[in-house]
Amino acid sequence: MSEQYDVALIGAGPGGYVAAIRAAQLGLKVCVIEKDKPGGVCLNWGCIPSKSLIHQAEVFHSLSEMEEAGLKVDRSTLDYAKVQAKSREATRQLSTGVGGLLRKNKVDLIKAGASLAAKGRISLDNGKEVTARNLIIATGSQAMVVPGFEFDEEQVLSSYGVLAMTRLPKSIVILGAGAIGCEFAYVLNAFGVQVTLVEMAEHILPSEDQEVVEVLEQAFAKSGVDLLTGVRATGLKKTKSAVTVAVEDGSGKKTDLRAEKVLAVFGRTPNTRGIGLDKVGVKVDERGYIPIGDYCETNVKGIFAIGDITSTPALAHVASKEGEIAVEFIAGHNPAVRSVDPDLVPSAIYSEPQVAGFGLREQQAAAKGLKIKKSVFPYRGAGKSIAVGKPEGLVKVITDPASGELLGAHIVGHNATELIHELLLSKRSELLPEDIAEMIHAHPTLSEALMEALRGVDGKPIHM
Ligand code: FAD
Repeated sequence: MSEQYDVALIGAGPGGYVAAIRAAQLGLKVCVIEKDKPGGVCLNWGCIPSKSLIHQAEVFHSLSEMEEAGLKVDRSTLDYAKVQAKSREATRQLSTGVGGLLRKNKVDLIKAGASLAAKGRISLDNGKEVTARNLIIATGSQAMVVPGFEFDEEQVLSSYGVLAMTRLPKSIVILGAGAIGCEFAYVLNAFGVQVTLVEMAEHILPSEDQEVVEVLEQAFAKSGVDLLTGVRATGLKKTKSAVTVAVEDGSGKKTDLRAEKVLAVFGRTPNTRGIGLDKVGVKVDERGYIPIGDYCETNVKGIFAIGDITSTPALAHVASKEGEIAVEFIAGHNPAVRSVDPDLVPSAIYSEPQVAGFGLREQQAAAKGLKIKKSVFPYRGAGKSIAVGKPEGLVKVITDPASGELLGAHIVGHNATELIHELLLSKRSELLPEDIAEMIHAHPTLSEALMEALRGVDGKPIHM
């Protein structure tokens, strides 16, 4: 007879493995079924390897700054296969670490493909079955395939293909300037690849605050990325040595873009097919996502869904938080937080300069006709940004003019993805701008730019 669990999870990505560990900490008997390596897309083919490449690109790029100090490095000796190997080693270490954490917390990690067989029952592709009082689906997502742009992972790459690449191409066309497209535009350009970045919307990173995004657009242009916005890719043709992408702008003007490779990052598709949702009656929406209610429960009681297979933001930290919310409910804690509050989810794009933000974007306020007060402080006003040679950037806070409440905050600049949390904490703790503005910040730090932006809400920045 198969073992009876309190919770069985399908998928050990940042949603599944965090939920499993938290459930075990709460005293539940847990298993997580994973067909591949622990850590999911995030650790193995997403957040972690990309950040390793970004870090190495930054170091490589910064060598040119040292030339002013007389240091000459022959950058042509770069061995990209070794750069890549370093990024794979980071994922290996972390994935092994997650396996260790699961063991330490007495979570059974079952290596198998899984599908729902009935309420409380999961079939494994090794012929076995798992039974559990509660099931959590955390099967994540995969790169979206658009007809005409199918991946061969040689010339037409997905994010997987570009993360597996061991030789740099001379040129690349990146289709889609969301977070992944912008991060690879930065990495490949920094390593000397001729990058053309194509985006259908009028700006790159369409869901971020526009004023902030414009700073990154300028930085891309300055560093030689060929940026085409308001332009749609309509098809591609491959020859042995090149790919030609046909694009069309808003006025109907057609152009051919030729490059050695194409990276197509149009979006992600939830992994909801072939996992037996129909057998248990779990609904999916028209785009294939699983709708969830309070505590991430699906329309079927006792079956939960977390992470990229739901329509909440496709971010690792959202997946993990949803996992915690679901298992705390299963453990009988009835947590006060029933779902992830989208206004408190930080976005983070790890280009240079970085982009990070949360809550209301200025263009959203304009579209809704909301009255706002904004304060913008430039990075160059904080001495540290000049000292470390990173003056590009700004901190922007958006407040309610009547109550002073912080409605949103956005940063573009060096280390933005770390800095955003001070502002997020003040929002979550319902602090007013003056509470942080009056706090002493160490000098010299980039955090002083945050302090100054908050001082600016009442018109009192010192260094502007
Ligand atoms: P996943 O991480 O996709 O994990 C799902 C797991 O389920 C996988 O391991 C899969 O093998 C397993 N699985 C699927 N089906 C089955 C089955 N039938 N049986 C058994 N196992 C199954 N997010 C950020 O927050 N920050 C970043 O910097 C960031 N960078 C990214 C960079 C790239 C290139 C990409 C592609 C994504 C990035 N993301 C980033 C997004 C992030 O990776 C995802 O939001 C996150 O991985 C979602 O977690 P998840 O647990 O829902 O699913």
